Amino acid sequence: MRLRAFQGLLHQPRRLSPRHCEAPGCSQATREGKAYCSDHVEMHPYVQDLIARLEQRESEDDRVNRRGPRAVNLQGITTQEILQHLAFHGPRTEERLCRELNLEVKTLQGYVQALRRKKLVTLGHTKRGSTVVKLAKGLVRAAEPIKAEELDTEAEAV
Ligand SMILES: [Zn+2]
Repeated sequence: MRLRAFQGLLHQPRRLSPRHCEAPGCSQATREGKAYCSDHVEMHPYVQDLIARLEQRESEDDRVNRRGPRAVNLQGITTQEILQHLAFHGPRTEERLCRELNLEVKTLQGYVQALRRKKLVTLGHTKRGSTVVKLAKGLVRAAEPIKAEELDTEAEAV
């Protein structure tokens, strides 16, 4: 069960007396002063919040895949992830973004179009016809300016 992976994140101050699970009807002692035992870790508010965000993201990606740019939430996790990825790594072809962010082409293109309309990214093309996504000038901070030759090199590597 993938929720077990979240358990390590739920640190709380240690208590002297053993703590018991707060799930109704469950009286298992919990580890390290956590509020819930491993069977009920998903009841923790932090995990609830995380699950809700992941579900929101999944359904948003799905809507963008079916309906395109107008389904994009610019505050959503995927949008933020694309912008952060570009800020950190520099311009990327759409194909490469799909691989690195694990998104389907149609989904990624929906996000990219929405970001372009808001002038958060600009688009270019490689000689091989791939679309290159680049963070808009105002958004580029620490990243070095990328030269055209580097884009061509990247396209060769694809
Ligand atoms: Zn429990």
